Amino acid sequence: MSELYDKWLHAYVEAEKDPRSLSASPCPSCGRPALRLLFVVPADDTSVGRAEFWCDHCRKGVFFSRVTVPAHGDFVTMEQRRATPREKVARYEIIPPTVHPG
Ligand SMILES: [Zn+2]
Repeated sequence: MSELYDKWLHAYVEAEKDPRSLSASPCPSCGRPALRLLFVVPADDTSVGRAEFWCDHCRKGVFFSRVTVPAHGDFVTMEQRRATPREKVARYEIIPPTVHPG
C-alpha cells in the first residue's frame, strides 16, 4: 500500500465514525479541510453501498465498494445518481492502493 493511500484510508476510518466531523478534517493530499463523503446505495437497501471519499479542493480521493453506511452519512440512491447530469457528479482522481515499481 502506498503511504498516501494509507493516509486516505485512515481519514476514511475517522470520517466513517462520525461523518459530521468531516468538515474539520484536513485532506490527506493537500491539507485543506475540503473532504466530502458520499455513499451511493441501492434504493431498496440504503444501509450498504459504495463510498466515495474525495477532496473538493485538490480533487483527489478514494472509493470503497460494499461498505456499511454510517449514521449521519450522506447518501444518494443509484437511481438518483443515474439521473444526475454528468457535470453535477463530482469527478476526482483516484488514489491507487498500490504503487507499481517503474
Ligand atoms: Zn485535497
